Amino acid sequence: MTRSLLDDAQLERIRGRAARYDRDNAFFAEDLDELKDAGYLRQCVPVALGGSGASLEHVLHEQIRLATAAPATALALNMHLLWTAVARMLAEWGDPSLDWVLREAADGQVFAFGVSEPGNDEVLSDSLTRAEPQPDGGYRFFGTKIFGSLSPAWTRLSVFGRDDSDPGAPVLVHGFIERDAAGYRILEDWNALGMRATQSHTTILEGAFVPAERVVRVLPVGPSADPFVFAIFAGFELLISAVYVGIGERALALAVESVRSRTSLRAGGAPLADDLDVRSALADAGIAQDGQYAQLTALARDVDSGVAAGAEWFPRLSGAKVRVTRTAREVVDRCVAVAGGASYRADSELSRLARDVLAGQFHPSSERAARRAMAASLLGPVTGRGA
Ligand SMILES: Cc1cc2nc3c(=O)[nH]c(=O)nc-3n(C[C@H](O)[C@H](O)[C@H](O)COP(=O)(O)OP(=O)(O)OC[C@H]3O[C@@H](n4cnc5c(N)ncnc54)[C@H](O)[C@@H]3O)c2cc1C
Repeated sequence: MTRSLLDDAQLERIRGRAARYDRDNAFFAEDLDELKDAGYLRQCVPVALGGSGASLEHVLHEQIRLATAAPATALALNMHLLWTAVARMLAEWGDPSLDWVLREAADGQVFAFGVSEPGNDEVLSDSLTRAEPQPDGGYRFFGTKIFGSLSPAWTRLSVFGRDDSDPGAPVLVHGFIERDAAGYRILEDWNALGMRATQSHTTILEGAFVPAERVVRVLPVGPSADPFVFAIFAGFELLISAVYVGIGERALALAVESVRSRTSLRAGGAPLADDLDVRSALADAGIAQDGQYAQLTALARDVDSGVAAGAEWFPRLSGAKVRVTRTAREVVDRCVAVAGGASYRADSELSRLARDVLAGQFHPSSERAARRAMAASLLGPVTGRGA
C-alpha cells in the first residue's frame, strides 16, 4: 500500500481537537484546513489532475486511520470522498459525466451529500423532494434534506428529487448546487448524541436551481442498475464502514492502555492486564476487531478491480456494512467494560467513542435492507403463494 497522507504528528493534532469539537458541538474547521493542506480531499483525484489517484482500498485505510483520531471528522469527509470516488470510478469505467467533480475537487471545492429525507426509507430508489424541470434543461428542487454533514463548509451539495411531470413515467433527478445558489436554507439544528463535529444540519430546498450541466443523472423511479447508483452504493457502504473500524481500533488501544495502567488490590497490586477475565474479554474484542479489516479490504479490492458480482453486490456490501457497524459496537462495549468507570466520564475518549459508534446503525444500509437483500439472494423473491 502507498504511504499515508497523514503523518503521526498530524494525526495527534487532529486527535487533540476532537474532544473540544464534541464538547462544544462545533464543526471541525481546523481539521478541515489541515486535511485540505495535506491533500486529503484530493486523494481520489487522478494524479494528472493534481490528486494522489488513490484506490478505494487505499482511501478506506486512510479513513480507518483518520477515524482512530477523530471519527466525526472522518465521517463528514466521507461525503466529499464518496463523490470524488464515484466520479473516479465512473471515469475509469469510461463515463466522463462526473469528470468536472474531479477537476473541481482538485481546485479545492468541498462536496457534500444531500440524499437523506425525513420519512424516505427508499433511500436512492425514490424521493420526497420535488424536482421541477425548467425550460433550459435545469431543475428546481423543493424539499427537506436531513443529516447534511459538512453543512458549514461544503461548496457543492448534491441534491436529488423526483420529477412527476410525466405521471406515467416519474424520474429521479440527481444534480449539484453551489454554495452561493439562491433557494435553500440551512437550519443550524445539529445536536446529536455522538458524531457532533459533523454538524449535519437540515437543509430546506426552496427552489434551489441546478443548471442543465450540473444535472448528472435522470433515472426511472425504483432500484437502478445504472453504474452511477452502483458507484454511490459501493463507495458509501465501504467508506462508512471504515469509520467504524477506526473507532473499534482506537477503543481497543485505549482499553489496553487502561488495563496496563490500573492495578488490582485483590491481586496484590498486579496490573489488571494480568487478570485472566480481563485478558479474555480484551482478547474477544481483539478477535472481533481483527476480522473487520480483511472483509473490507477484500471488498474494496474487488470494487477497484471491477469484479462483476451483479446483483450479489447488494447482499455482500450491505451485509458488510451491517456486520462491521454491529461488530464495532460490540468491540467498544467490551472495551468500556474492561476500562472501568473512568470510561463513563463525559470527558473520556472512550465515552465519546461509545456515543459515536451508535451512529453506525442509522446509515444506509439498514439492518432491514441488508436482511431483505440477503434473503432475496438466498431464497429469491417472496412468492406470495399460500392461503
Ligand atoms: C452522523 C450522521 C451523518 C450523516 N450524514 C449524512 C449526509 O451527509 N448526507 C445524507 O444524505 N445522509 C446522512 N446521514 C443520514 C443517514 O444516512 C440516515 O438517513 C439518517 O440517519 C436517517 O435515518 P432514519 O431514516 O432511520 O431516521 P428517522 O428517525 O426515521 O427519520 C429522521 C427524521 O425524519 C423524521 N421522519 C421520519 N419518518 C417521517 C415521516 N414519515 N414523515 C415525516 N418525517 C419523518 C423523523 O422525525 C426524524 O426527524 C447521516 C447520518 C448520521 C447518523
